[in-house]
Amino acid sequence: MKKIQMVDLISQYEDIKEEVKAEFDRVLDTAMFINGPLVKEFQADLEAYLDVKHVIPCANGTDALQVIMMAYNFPKGAEVLVPSYTYVATVEVIALLGFKPVFVEAYPDSFNIDIEDLESKITDNSVAIVPVHLYGQCADMERLMEVAGRNNLVVLEDTAQAIGADYTYADGRTVKAGTIGNAGATSFFPSKNLGCYGDGGAVFTNDDELASKIRMIVNHGQSKRYYHDSIGVNSRLDSLQAAVLKVKLKHLDRYNAARRAVADRYDKAFGATGVITPPYRSPFSTHVFHQYTVKLADGIDRDGLNAFLTEEGIPSMIYYPVPNHLQKAYQYYGYQKGDFEVTEDLCSRVISFPIHTEMEDEQQELIISKVIEFINR
Ligand SMILES: *Cc1c(COP(=O)(O)O)cnc(C)c1O
Repeated sequence: MKKIQMVDLISQYEDIKEEVKAEFDRVLDTAMFINGPLVKEFQADLEAYLDVKHVIPCANGTDALQVIMMAYNFPKGAEVLVPSYTYVATVEVIALLGFKPVFVEAYPDSFNIDIEDLESKITDNSVAIVPVHLYGQCADMERLMEVAGRNNLVVLEDTAQAIGADYTYADGRTVKAGTIGNAGATSFFPSKNLGCYGDGGAVFTNDDELASKIRMIVNHGQSKRYYHDSIGVNSRLDSLQAAVLKVKLKHLDRYNAARRAVADRYDKAFGATGVITPPYRSPFSTHVFHQYTVKLADGIDRDGLNAFLTEEGIPSMIYYPVPNHLQKAYQYYGYQKGDFEVTEDLCSRVISFPIHTEMEDEQQELIISKVIEFINR
């Protein structure tokens, strides 16, 4: 049996090696490493896949969030509503640009942003909401968009973990995660569902004016060569990464289906234990299982399980052990323990097990049996 990994990128590469090498050769043979044809091709392919007007590639997912916020040019101190239960990047860019992150509670079942709590945190200084489609499943976007519309707030979706997920409106219309709000940001970090072989990211939007502003910002605020209309950054997706992404995009639906099949098998085994709550499956979003994250019942030693699995050669992870409102970096905003009971509770009882596109039955059976062995001890 192969060594179990959280994400097995080596086996995945084996399967697409020839395709990737052929695209790499196209880049290497032309030496168009920056803004080469492969970047344009991948951009067009992703626009078609997402059914969105503009994809703007950039250097990573954190930059994608940042350049959207730069384009909006919110006043300093403006409040941006964001779940505390997310990866730090979402919060970091808000603080970095001099806006104020206003934290919002999570739902205990879906782990996504709590819409009632969101609404209660809106003030005259609020300018935007950044919902995060955590672990691969969309936040309750229809209700969120309704709240945003009523309060005149911009919606920026952090879809770094949910590329390819389908969101279905009450009227049956289905769209891709990241194309619902004013703009979406994603990451192509190697372990993401659509990952390259280094860093990469992109912005999605249907707004022409916003798209042209962001295209300028990612290129030093340049409108034409050596004419700089706004303060920008240097944030590009390089051609070799675009080559990998162009190949992997063709397999994305199959990859997400493979992750879902792994999740289904875990659900069945863990659901039967009565003490492990499998991930919630929302009625309005498919789940692309960037992570397979369960909740453990009271009395199960989560950190003990984590250590036991490590000893058995099985990786597992805690996403996330500390909520953002309690991170040292954000103490400045005055949040305290107890401010977000659900979020804090989740941080103490979640654990994520290996999930990826190349999981073998034998590997998964071992993971399941070791988890169950531990909880029955
Ligand atoms: C990975 C991730 C990011 C940041 O992406 P990078 O490409 O690593 O900068 C942002 N938000 C979430 C929720 C993520 O999971």
